[in-house]
Amino acid sequence: MNDNNVTLQQLKSRMAEFVHARDWEQFHSPKNISMALAVEASELMELFQWADTQESQEIVRIEREKVEQELADVLAYTLSFANACDIDLTGAFMRKLALNAAKYPVEKAKGKSDKYHSYTE
Ligand SMILES: [Mg+2]
Repeated sequence: MNDNNVTLQQLKSRMAEFVHARDWEQFHSPKNISMALAVEASELMELFQWADTQESQEIVRIEREKVEQELADVLAYTLSFANACDIDLTGAFMRKLALNAAKYPVEKAKGKSDKYHSYTE
């Protein structure tokens, strides 16, 4: 199984099975899952705390297993949030990507890291 042969729906179903087998739906409120998601994102960030840009790239190489585990935790809670709130992740992602494409037009944003408001000023 890898990204080339598994769908988001399959991952959502696998996550739902994991949660259901443990009777954890009762704990999966939007509040709890969003907080858990933020905690896992923080655990990912912690791996790079105080590292400069080049060091952060080296950390991915050296600590790849830990990086993958924390990123997987973020995905697990993303999938759980979508399951608990009946959100179609593909639809939500594509709508948001379209909004970001409008907010950051290629001709203005290419090669820049400015926030979008700098384009309208
Ligand atoms: Mg973690």
